[in-house]
Amino acid sequence: MFDHPDYDAHDKVLMVEDAASGLKAIIAVHSTALGAAAGGCRLWAYDSGVNALSDALRLSRGMSYKNAMANLPMGGGKAVILGPVPAERREAVLEAFGRAVDSLDGQYITAEDVGVSVADMKIVARTTGYVSGLDAAVGKSGGDPSPFTARGVRVGIEAAVKAKLGRSDLAGIKVAVQGLGHVGTYLCEELFNLGAKLVVADINPERVEEVCNRFAAESVSVNNILLQTVDVVAPCALGGAISEDVASRLQATIVAGAANNQLLTAGAGRILGERGILYAPDYVINAGGIIMVAGEISGRNDEADILAQVDAIGPRLFDIFTKAKSANALTNVIADAMARDKIAAARARVTEA
Ligand code: NAD
Repeated sequence: MFDHPDYDAHDKVLMVEDAASGLKAIIAVHSTALGAAAGGCRLWAYDSGVNALSDALRLSRGMSYKNAMANLPMGGGKAVILGPVPAERREAVLEAFGRAVDSLDGQYITAEDVGVSVADMKIVARTTGYVSGLDAAVGKSGGDPSPFTARGVRVGIEAAVKAKLGRSDLAGIKVAVQGLGHVGTYLCEELFNLGAKLVVADINPERVEEVCNRFAAESVSVNNILLQTVDVVAPCALGGAISEDVASRLQATIVAGAANNQLLTAGAGRILGERGILYAPDYVINAGGIIMVAGEISGRNDEADILAQVDAIGPRLFDIFTKAKSANALTNVIADAMARDKIAAARARVTEA
């Protein structure tokens, strides 16, 4: 475990197996220096326990960086439930997961992620109070953070278009959206309303049909979506979309989307940089949802205030783009350094106190 390539001096990693329900889960608490570790719970059919552990370790560090960069008073954590979970056991599994979260006494606060819905989180809330993303406390969406994530991605795309193309609007800008789930669909709506032209793909044909009908999008195959001749590629499916091969063949000038861990390897980021393709660091651009969740957790869920924080993602990214350009460095390397500095400063304050 301590030699695992994705282990990064995490505060705590909890492996949970509950015989009665069949739950197998990993809760990774990366850092609590800035506050309770907040981050969603993913339910996924992993090939192996090792891959599930990798995902939990990487995603939890990403949450630490994301929360730090969004200036939230929260650390970073993430949970994964190893699927598949049969429908008849889902309720018991989620209740058992809630008990595991509760055993951490508030060091970790959970929420939805891929494969987990608001309804699931309401079941988790039966056995722990350390859960968010539950209520229609903010906005129209019943506790779903996705519209806020999508708005943040949209303002991030605007910042990237300004930095790279010198344009201050999205009219006629071509965007390829990979993945039309919660975030991808709201993102298409945001972009369509601002006059962008959409090319989309999803493994689920029903999602494609709906988005094409609503937002005049063109559909292409899932194998080709990232290689479209467009201005922006927006990965909004799962992580690892930008492999070194994809990075060397990409036709877009900007990569800016919602997915976590978009770069499969550090080499993929280097190739994007060498080819002059501007990459919006994933955990900076996709922080809109956690900003909304942080409002819910703190009880300060004034919608105007939350939207202002989400909109601040645009200038924050523009600052990263400017710093990266003047230092001749990669945007993701600059963002990582900024995030690590913020966490280290908080750790130092905790140690002093
Ligand atoms: P989701 O499960 O609702 O949507 C994912 C979509 O991607 C699904 O429609 C799925 O069919 C599709 N998909 C899967 N593999 C694909 C492939 N190879 N090609 C094309 N489509 C594919 O998830 P979501 O909540 O929309 O999140 C999307 C991404 O954004 C995830 O990586 C998630 O971690 C990240 N994210 C989400 C939020 C949020 O608020 N929901 C916040 C931050 C980051």
